[in-house]
Amino acid sequence: MVTIGNYISTGKCIWCGRTIADGASFHNIPHVFPHALGGEDTCTDVCDECNHYFGTTKVHGVPSIDLTFKEIFNAYRFFCQNLNENSYKKLRSTFFSYHHSTHSIKIRQNFRNDVLCRQLKRGLYECFLQKYHQVTGDGNNLIFDSVRQYARYNYGELRVYYAFNDIILAEKEQDRPHLGMSDILLDAMREYGVYHFWLLGHSFYLEVFPIAFNVKGMAYLQNEAKHILLPTSDRVGIFEFNDIRQIDPLMFRFNNR
Ligand SMILES: [Zn+2]
Repeated sequence: MVTIGNYISTGKCIWCGRTIADGASFHNIPHVFPHALGGEDTCTDVCDECNHYFGTTKVHGVPSIDLTFKEIFNAYRFFCQNLNENSYKKLRSTFFSYHHSTHSIKIRQNFRNDVLCRQLKRGLYECFLQKYHQVTGDGNNLIFDSVRQYARYNYGELRVYYAFNDIILAEKEQDRPHLGMSDILLDAMREYGVYHFWLLGHSFYLEVFPIAFNVKGMAYLQNEAKHILLPTSDRVGIFEFNDIRQIDPLMFRFNNR
């Protein structure tokens, strides 16, 4: 049950575990993924302090998790089009700059690849738990403690894999991105420890339960590779995501051949 003015269903923040009795407030709408991406999908039980944390840049050169997420997925959307020099000039981005003289796009110097990578990975886990809570109401479950530690407190490491295809099968509603969370996906997550995060035509795989993933995760990914990869070149594959260039946010696979 959702109370108007307080975005609460269990009453306990899925990130920090606090309630109103503990001093938390729940006045700001939590979006499943950053509002600036066009998503209207909202959830509950994210306290204002945690909500603020994901959207705030505190350290120079370390952009907020939400900004990183928005920038990367916006870049995917932008560079998916058939681009020419004029469309490149329309690019508005905090991270990327287009250099007309050399016809190249670069990550701005004040950002490091490994930093952007970690922030994006944490953002994927942030969206995952918020969507999971919206769908199941079970986001407070202790089984997600490693997700909380990583996404909210920047502690530890959870792996993310990316399926690299030369062809992107994009969703129809590009301006209203949707994150799927079907029973099939959730059953697979419980069994193999991995959640298939599919957004704007890009497939990421999240190691939600490390113990199950260590036993069965690779078998799951090998099976996925048979279904999801279109063998058009030797770049195609599912690989662990450790550097922002690996996931090709600028879609050079389309536009720089
Ligand atoms: Zn909180």
